[in-house]
Amino acid sequence: MTSATVVGSGPNGLAAALTLAAEGIQVHVIEAAGTLGGGTRSSELTVPGVIHDECSAAHPLAIDTPFSRRFDLAAHGLTWRWPEVQYSHPLDGGSGAAAYKSVAETARHLGKDGHRWRRLFGSLTDRFDDIAEDFLEPVIHVPKHPLKLARFGAWSGMPANVLARWFRTPEGQALFAGCAAHAFRPFTSPVSSAIGVTLGTAAHRYGWPVAEGGSASISRAVVALLEEHGATFETGRTVTSLAELGSPDVVMLDLAPAAAARVAGSRMPRRVSRALERYRHGPGSFKVEFAVEGGVPWAHEPSRRAGTVHVCGSLAEVAAAERDTCAGRMPERPYVLVCQQSVADPTRANGDVHPLYSYAHVPAGWTGDATAQIEAQIERFAPGFRDRIVGRHVRSVPDMEAHNVNYVGGDVVTGSNDMLQLVFRPRPALDPYTLGIPGVYLCSAATPPGAGAHGMCGWNAARSALGRLDPTAFAPAPPAEAAARA
Ligand SMILES: Cc1cc2nc3c(=O)[nH]c(=O)nc-3n(C[C@H](O)[C@H](O)[C@H](O)COP(=O)(O)OP(=O)(O)OC[C@H]3O[C@@H](n4cnc5c(N)ncnc54)[C@H](O)[C@@H]3O)c2cc1C
Repeated sequence: MTSATVVGSGPNGLAAALTLAAEGIQVHVIEAAGTLGGGTRSSELTVPGVIHDECSAAHPLAIDTPFSRRFDLAAHGLTWRWPEVQYSHPLDGGSGAAAYKSVAETARHLGKDGHRWRRLFGSLTDRFDDIAEDFLEPVIHVPKHPLKLARFGAWSGMPANVLARWFRTPEGQALFAGCAAHAFRPFTSPVSSAIGVTLGTAAHRYGWPVAEGGSASISRAVVALLEEHGATFETGRTVTSLAELGSPDVVMLDLAPAAAARVAGSRMPRRVSRALERYRHGPGSFKVEFAVEGGVPWAHEPSRRAGTVHVCGSLAEVAAAERDTCAGRMPERPYVLVCQQSVADPTRANGDVHPLYSYAHVPAGWTGDATAQIEAQIERFAPGFRDRIVGRHVRSVPDMEAHNVNYVGGDVVTGSNDMLQLVFRPRPALDPYTLGIPGVYLCSAATPPGAGAHGMCGWNAARSALGRLDPTAFAPAPPAEAAARA
């Protein structure tokens, strides 16, 4: 029987495992941590009964993909929950801006910038299914929708500063800036708008939902399907060399590039290992989970109903914070990403005690403590916040790396989103999942389409592997949806 070993059980490792297992391949998953799921783990970190997402929180790009369409995760316990406000951006004095799922509703609340918001996101949202079909695939392919992709590229190619200043009001500028900061890039650099344009469009097409019960529900659903396909699992084992894996037909490495080069050792061609060792990582994140009695008293009322809140202030302040962290300086007022999962999913709360997820962008490898700065930023826009904190769990940059070695220097998006790596990751190659060793593939978020708990890197890597296997050596199972209905 054809066999595969998957090293690492993040969303991409699990997606690769399931894509292979569903084709009749015997899959074994090895995970270094004590629990499966990598960046989709959730747990009670502060107060019993209050569920915190340890990494991924909002999932706009996981809703409708070739992977999500192929496997019926809903039948295996995954339920998406949408907040009324997808994301918001409070400003001083109780003002701010909010993004609703509807472009029209968002535009209506943006006053003078309404028509500009509609012009940017209206047509992209209408075309997003086709655009996503192209960008979720490995980059080197003939686009199926070249004109739509070109239109998307025209907006995305701009520095975030330029595109944000196209809006005229502080609210419109800040709303886009908060979204663009997800890229962890200086706002002056080319294509620093790309992630903001993608996530902003996805907010209107799919929303920014959370998984009911915690992001761990995503990995639990995939694991349940894998078990149905006979896959086996091993936790608490760190793989250090390919030699210890025996000789499976396929090896999938859900690892950061340099780690993959270390595990492969001398079996990897020197040109490939050199390229992987040169792979660039971005800034770090410093994470604080709070348990908050009565929720956060945002002065900007729509922020109380938002799943995600971008906390930093004006466009100029967001741009300065991102410039500093990318240059290795810790800003006094960092960009803080806040999620209020219980707004959409009340099962995360215990009575009136709610989980509040936050992380600040900090320089790569930073060893300081940003807890006070995170609290000050939230308190600035939500006076009285500190008095409501009843529990706190802090994860510094070194803690982040200890939690998951893929977060090199605290880089939670597995690689700098600079222009070259947005297009060619982890290295320029016709098939970016191959590692120059027959049967061995990289499937982590360091490969296209990049970061996020969507599983598409794993899906693409597995399909690359399947394309090289002898199809007569394994027997595809029927699609999970059909199996579930049967
Ligand atoms: C704080 C934070 C916030 C985020 N927010 C979001 C969000 O809101 N939405 C979103 O979509 N994404 C978000 N992400 C990103 C998302 O979680 C990642 O992009 C995604 O988890 C990457 O999946 P992966 O499978 O490539 O790797 P990972 O999830 O990193 O999994 C890799 C796994 O491999 C294991 N491993 C590593 N080395 C070895 C080894 N040698 N042997 C065995 N096992 C090994 C690790 O323990 C880990 O479990 C966030 C991430 C973080 C950290």
